[in-house]
Amino acid sequence: MGLMLRSPQQTLLRAVEEAAAHLYVWALKDIPQDLRDALAGALDRETSTPGRRVLETILRNVEVADAERNLVCQDTGIPVYYCRVGDGFPLHPARIHEALRAGTERATIEHPLRSNTVHTLTRQNTGHNVGHRVPIVHWDFVAGWEGLDVKCVPKGSGSENMSFLKMCVPADGVAGIKRFVLESIVDAGGKPCPPGIVGVGIGGSADYAMHLAKEAIARPVGTRNPDPEVAKLEQELFELLNETGIGPMGLGGDVTVLQVHVEHADTHMTLNPVAVNYQCWAARRATAHVRPDGSVEYDREA
Ligand code: SF4
Repeated sequence: MGLMLRSPQQTLLRAVEEAAAHLYVWALKDIPQDLRDALAGALDRETSTPGRRVLETILRNVEVADAERNLVCQDTGIPVYYCRVGDGFPLHPARIHEALRAGTERATIEHPLRSNTVHTLTRQNTGHNVGHRVPIVHWDFVAGWEGLDVKCVPKGSGSENMSFLKMCVPADGVAGIKRFVLESIVDAGGKPCPPGIVGVGIGGSADYAMHLAKEAIARPVGTRNPDPEVAKLEQELFELLNETGIGPMGLGGDVTVLQVHVEHADTHMTLNPVAVNYQCWAARRATAHVRPDGSVEYDREA
């Protein structure tokens, strides 16, 4: 029998598929340390009895998931991947996309995971968490680099349903941005499984602001935007939203959000878009760094 040799392209394709399959399951089971610390910090800060009970239950839930190597929440979310592709990475993004799709499907079948993906109109399940334009893949291209970073962020529907966009006018200024974020979080109440991370996207265009809000929730918890003006807004919103008294799971308390992350883009002189994307307490994310030779390093903290 002849020896089956894989071409470097096939090896890489396989490595990305494996990485996607591993990331999806891993993200669902093993939440990052920064999130664990934020949840423990929330319990330290919380003074209300129902709020403390909720946080204790969440932390116990995480412990049980660790001990039993099980999912932290039954909602396996909609699979979302963020790819940073170096211009020297030897696999074309079309092939990377193919591998992410195959990996998602494999993880869903092999684990097995609950398949959430349906046709939007017929509501027919498309099977295995893949479908038309699912998984959702975002791209960033990096000049002068040979690597590929894949971050998997399975997004629960309870929190994704609490996504809001407003085209403020420039005269609304920063106060208008804050007001809209505050109104959004008050309207959302306990529905997005608080306390979580509020992602805010400002600037760009309507679609890009929402993209930025989503990107914001995928950052390590508590990191601050490098722009000092934006970082100041993050801190002010963090304090403001925790004054609402919504509390853990909306039962009242001091901790309504674990963090607020803001991402921004410059915009048109007559635009002031603001998007809010909520991430629940189960803020799952996991990253793989793939090298051109197909070796993969997994990273829970990126
Ligand atoms: S919003 Fe998050 S914590 Fe709530 S059910 Fe969905 S995935 Fe689970």
